[in-house]
Amino acid sequence: MKVIEHFEKANKPLISFEIIPPKRGGDMSSLLSIIDDLAQFNPPFIDITSHAAEVIYEETPTGFQKKIKRKRPGTLGICALIQNKYNIDAVPHILCRGFTREETEDLLIELQYLGIDNVLAIRGDDSGYEKPILYGRSANPYALELVQQITDMNRGKYLEDNLLDAEPSNFCIGVAGYPEKHFESPNLRMDIQCMKAKADAGADYVVTQMFFDNSAYFKFLEVSREEGLKVPIIPGLKILTTKGNLSAVPRKFYVNIPEELAKEVAAAKPEHVMEIGVNWAAKQVEELLNKGAPSLHFYIMQNSKPIMMLMKKIKL
Ligand code: FAD
Repeated sequence: MKVIEHFEKANKPLISFEIIPPKRGGDMSSLLSIIDDLAQFNPPFIDITSHAAEVIYEETPTGFQKKIKRKRPGTLGICALIQNKYNIDAVPHILCRGFTREETEDLLIELQYLGIDNVLAIRGDDSGYEKPILYGRSANPYALELVQQITDMNRGKYLEDNLLDAEPSNFCIGVAGYPEKHFESPNLRMDIQCMKAKADAGADYVVTQMFFDNSAYFKFLEVSREEGLKVPIIPGLKILTTKGNLSAVPRKFYVNIPEELAKEVAAAKPEHVMEIGVNWAAKQVEELLNKGAPSLHFYIMQNSKPIMMLMKKIKL
């Protein structure tokens, strides 16, 4: 079922999750036990991140060697597993970066054959690797063009003209939004205008980057509505679990950690940080739901323990 249909049919707030594939060659058993944990909460859908190839430098006796490696393949396989073994809708992340439009079309066809109805269309993180686009192939520079490609396919328009028997696809399309603005954008309003363009091109809903201060989400919602964006905007939340998160999370995701939370984590013993993170997230959840958030999306990464603790605390 489409994500947007889950929202429409829901009579209480929905809780969805996002997981990441294991590293290349990694064992699936720990991911399976995370999905087993998450499945207990009947999530309407689970997102699976996607990772483009990266530039890696390896030290060798003759100096540094530049290598191109894709560290975390497997998004498609995990989606098939989640839909078929757990009967939960899977939402693969589809990237611009690292993939030609032709490869993206092939991937979308695979998804369609697997009965996957949803995709999250994003540009992708900069991995330092610029894939050469050869032999008349093409690339999507921004998520907007990727959304346009998927919308075209939904209308039966494939990259190759005049395809015989071309079946329209029927994907529900999600896109990313940034309550604290995307780090490359000059200001929040212009970033929101780019997001609105994605909805105008066919995106059905937005999932936000994580935030730890709800006021950022409420302001983002307000400006988005002023700009005429009508689709649901789903808050994305992450639970802090380690002291290292205080620097790693802002560095990787370009988000602020409020002073009160940062001070509490900094002063705590390492074994108490997860509890502090869970308590903070519980307060965020309570306020978001009280103020009408239709659904919440949790960044699980590779650890289900904090969400298990949180789900015991919150009332839906
Ligand atoms: P876009 O919407 O393309 O925007 C990127 C930037 O360009 C913004 O600053 C925007 O304002 C600006 N912009 C957009 N269009 C134009 C234009 N025409 N001209 C000039 N500027 C423009 N990364 C991964 O690698 N894998 C994942 O699985 C993944 N999942 C994510 C899930 C969510 C919910 C979120 C919030 C992020 C995720 N990311 C993931 C990170 C994401 O790839 C990065 O944040 C990326 O830098 C931007 O992606 P986007 O789709 O928001 O880009």
